[in-house]
Amino acid sequence: MPEPELIDSPSEEESPSADGTDELEELKGVEELDPETRARRDAALRHVRKFGDVVLRAKALPVERFDDSLRAEIERMGELMEDALGVGLAATQVGVLHRVFVYRAYSDDPIHALVNPVIEWSSEELEVAEEGCLSLPGVHVEVERPARVRVSGQDAQGEPVTVEAEGLEARVIQHELDHLDGTLILDRISREARREAMRALREAMSAPEPR
Ligand code: ZN
Repeated sequence: MPEPELIDSPSEEESPSADGTDELEELKGVEELDPETRARRDAALRHVRKFGDVVLRAKALPVERFDDSLRAEIERMGELMEDALGVGLAATQVGVLHRVFVYRAYSDDPIHALVNPVIEWSSEELEVAEEGCLSLPGVHVEVERPARVRVSGQDAQGEPVTVEAEGLEARVIQHELDHLDGTLILDRISREARREAMRALREAMSAPEPR
């Protein structure tokens, strides 16, 4: 059952994702990775909290100090996301209760960091696309979300930023913002889909550690 890996998720035997214009992937397809890339990804994923860790259900706190330690934290998150081949990573996923996430929806983009993000506006138009999550191995589910959003927040320096996003970028931002409120994609799907997702999750989490 080959499926693309989405949002922030790692996968072992899934096929590489399509180019993913309207998919949210925290993790891209990993089947054809060279051994070095794969080893780096596995190492990064060991730092990402997985389902069952209570921190994933916690509400992160606003950042008040924009100091070197915040910038170091953001840099480390960006590196982990990159090594994990993810498109987004929230601080709660690495056990830090700060309202911060990093993302890069398209591989040509720089890594963006948003601190204290707030959704100012979201479109009435909704879109359904498949998402995965680095914290939910093996899970790929269709999630409905507003197609476009406007988000305000701050950058790593504390300067105000506003982002208008659509498509995959809007999806990644909403997925990561959910993490800061302890919400997972499992909470955004039907009970039936959740049952199936839990089955896939249990299977993936009981699989032996990647080599
Ligand atoms: Zn996620």
